[in-house]
Amino acid sequence: MTSGWGRRAAFIDRDGVINEERNYVSQIEDFHLIPGAVEGLAQLSDAGFSLVVITNQSGIGRGLYSEADFDYLTEHMRHELARQGIEIAGVYYCPHHPKAGLGHYRVECNCRKPQPGMLLDAARELGLSLADSVLVGDKTSDIEAGRRAGLRRCVLVESGHALSAAERATADACVVDLQAAGRWLTSHG
Ligand SMILES: [Mg+2]
Ligand SMILES: [Zn+2]
Repeated sequence: MTSGWGRRAAFIDRDGVINEERNYVSQIEDFHLIPGAVEGLAQLSDAGFSLVVITNQSGIGRGLYSEADFDYLTEHMRHELARQGIEIAGVYYCPHHPKAGLGHYRVECNCRKPQPGMLLDAARELGLSLADSVLVGDKTSDIEAGRRAGLRRCVLVESGHALSAAERATADACVVDLQAAGRWLTSHG
C-alpha cells in the first residue's frame, strides 16, 4: 500500500451508483443510468483516476441469472459509457454468496464486499496504487471494502438506498449522487 507508484483508481459500485437500484439488475431493459452518473465518471477520469467497477452479483450464485448474462450487460454498459467518452479500465464482480449460493457459488469468498478482494485483484492486475485511490458506493459494505483495501477516500451516495446517520458516519463524505461524489473527490484530493 505504498503511495507514489501505479495509477490511481476510482472504484465505483454499480447498482445504485451508476445505474438505478432494482432487485438484481441483469437485463438491458432494467439498466438505467442515474442522472449525473456520466458527468461524475467523466470528472473522475479527467482528474486522472482510472475507472474500475466493483460489484457484488450474488444473483449469479443464487441462480437468478448467469455469468454470461452479466457479461452481456457489462458489454452494454461499457458501450453506452464509451459512446459518451467514458472508458472503464476494469469491471470486477463477485458471483458468490456464503448462504444462498448454489453449488460452488456457496462459499465464504474474499471478493464479496465488504471483503476487499476485488480491489486487491484490480490493483495487482491493473497496476493501481490503492493508497492513492478512492471509492464511491451506496452501502456501508462498499465503504468497508475500501477501508480494508487502504484507500485514500471513500464516499457514500444517496442514489441507491436510504442511509441512517450511523451509516453515513462510516464514509469520508455522503453526497447525493455520483456527480456530486466526483465534485467532492476532485476538490478534496
Ligand atoms: Mg450498490
Ligand atoms: Zn466472491
